[in-house]
Amino acid sequence: MPRKKQSRGSCSFCGQNMSKSGIARHLASCEKRLKIIEAADSKPGPAGIFYHLRIEDAWSGSFWLHLEMSGKATLAKLDSYLRSIWLECCGHLSEFSMDRRMQRPIAMSKKAGQVFRVGLELHHIYDFGSSSETRVKVVDVRKGKPITQYPITLMARNDLPEYQCVECGNTAAWLCLECLYEGEGGGVFCDKHAKTHPHDEYGEPVEIVNSPRLGICGYTGPAKPPY
Ligand SMILES: [Zn+2]
Ligand SMILES: [Zn+2]
Ligand SMILES: [Zn+2]
Ligand SMILES: [Zn+2]
Repeated sequence: MPRKKQSRGSCSFCGQNMSKSGIARHLASCEKRLKIIEAADSKPGPAGIFYHLRIEDAWSGSFWLHLEMSGKATLAKLDSYLRSIWLECCGHLSEFSMDRRMQRPIAMSKKAGQVFRVGLELHHIYDFGSSSETRVKVVDVRKGKPITQYPITLMARNDLPEYQCVECGNTAAWLCLECLYEGEGGGVFCDKHAKTHPHDEYGEPVEIVNSPRLGICGYTGPAKPPY
């Protein structure tokens, strides 16, 4: 699919939009985020360990997330988060591993605090047939109080990648699965050209959603975070 721009995304705390390469540094110094952490830390209750994770699709790297994950949460929680926001089509198997070839699997029942160290990179695979592979890098850690009631917090996410309609060059919002599976690729279309596109072997063109799995095994979204 022809792409327009370098990957950008937004900080969930302050809304600032920036390039992929700047976001980790931004999160470490985002005033809004630091205020929220400070407020959480001043509350009573047990402190814990929280990991800053950079997640990206292993194929293009143009789909990425920055998450904060509680050290007490299991890898199963991260797996289900990734399924919700990016991956789930029909309940395929998935696995975390210490290496790219998935030779050193890590049990889903392990807690983040038992596995994660700053600098560690894990690999995640969803669906061993038409696989989606994800890299999980531990970029930072903080000791303190939780900022939400959930085991995982979305701190930043890439913007929906911009594609250009192959017919006219305007912004594309639709993907033809027949072009994807049987053509030479490039089957992305604007509203107008999606309507007049002749292929129907795999149904009408599907709406482009913010997931690296779009179109794979018929995945069409919703690509929304679970909470
Ligand atoms: Zn921010
Ligand atoms: Zn599937
Ligand atoms: Zn068009
Ligand atoms: Zn087509």
